[in-house]
Amino acid sequence: MNVDRTCLLCRLKMNPRQIFQQHLAPTSFAPIGIHITRAEGATLWDAEGKEYIDLIGGISVANMGHRHPKVVAAIREQSEAYLHVMVYGEVLQSPQLHYAEMLAKQLPPGLDCVYFTNSGAEAVEGAIKLARRLSGRPNILAAHKSYHGSTTGALALLGDEYWRQAFRPLMPGILHHEYNTQAFLNAIDRHTAAVIIETVQAEAGVREPTQEWMTALREKCNDTGTLLILDEIQCGFGRTGKLWGFQHFGIVPDVVLLGKALGGGLPLGAFISSQKNMAALAENPVLGHISTFGGNPLCCAAGKAAFEALLEENGTLAVSKKEALFHQYLQHPSIKNVRSKGLLIAMELENDQEVLATLHRALKLGVFSDWFLFAPNCIRIAPPLNISETEIQKACQVLKECLG
Ligand code: PLP
Repeated sequence: MNVDRTCLLCRLKMNPRQIFQQHLAPTSFAPIGIHITRAEGATLWDAEGKEYIDLIGGISVANMGHRHPKVVAAIREQSEAYLHVMVYGEVLQSPQLHYAEMLAKQLPPGLDCVYFTNSGAEAVEGAIKLARRLSGRPNILAAHKSYHGSTTGALALLGDEYWRQAFRPLMPGILHHEYNTQAFLNAIDRHTAAVIIETVQAEAGVREPTQEWMTALREKCNDTGTLLILDEIQCGFGRTGKLWGFQHFGIVPDVVLLGKALGGGLPLGAFISSQKNMAALAENPVLGHISTFGGNPLCCAAGKAAFEALLEENGTLAVSKKEALFHQYLQHPSIKNVRSKGLLIAMELENDQEVLATLHRALKLGVFSDWFLFAPNCIRIAPPLNISETEIQKACQVLKECLG
């Protein structure tokens, strides 16, 4: 089929930039602002036909590349059958059933009951409710420099006062301590319903905990009857070189949170625990968490196809080799440090000005990247896991050329 790939608005002689500015609510006054018309693998194209190497994959979403053929085929097939038919939890829908079963098979025992949501933030909200409902305790402990989403509950967990202060009063009962410290462990007691952390902190500029700390955290949660919730929304699905980030540390959470790559490019989140735990949301009150679109059949079909592609094509296998390539190529006097866990990489520069200038120049030269919320002196590199070695080399070359 001969598809006209030029932008519809341009063909209609409308000004897309003007519409973007007038009719789409902004999140900042400095958006990246390029006009995407096509995406495939690790490549994006804009309305002028300019090509970009995508170093962020929609922020850890397109782990198997944009528009993986299996995902596109699954979406097509499901759209021929049915789209939304009923709210989550009431009727049997094959894409949900198959995907939940598949996730349960790939997760450790005890993480076999999936609640599908619309987004990562909604998965976080569901997990907070689950923890309070199960324990009857008030407190949730989160880490400084953590990001768990932008809804009001998730915002209360966010570990940076700048982003919280304008929205008070926030959900009470949230305590924050420094990730990977004894003080954090000491703060867990019999009033703590749950601890929630990112297994590897992403927005902090890629920070991983020590093995000892993770072991001690698991033990302290066991001793105090506290639920351990690991947010794998950004570091799941092979991003860190193992299917799940917690596999690096040999521990198993009580609840795991998934999102981003979970939907294969469509919106989907999930909080996952044991059948016994999850049953608490079905009584006293019944309908303890409800969602119209959670587990939308099209999103589950797309996500399942992307997960199958990740497993069949051994998407995680080459992650550490590609991680090493980034370290090898990103050698330059202006690069202060390269921190990474798999293909979640922070390239540290002198300051945030240097980061913004480099991102801007790189965009002009066809490399698409971004920054981190709590590490403004770092450039975010989290490409599709199946980015080619040639693309890595080329993108790194461009980034170095762009350094001040
Ligand atoms: N948790 C982590 C670690 C994230 O990185 C994000 C999003 O960036 C979220 C939760 C929230 O996910 P969503 O944007 O789908 O609500």
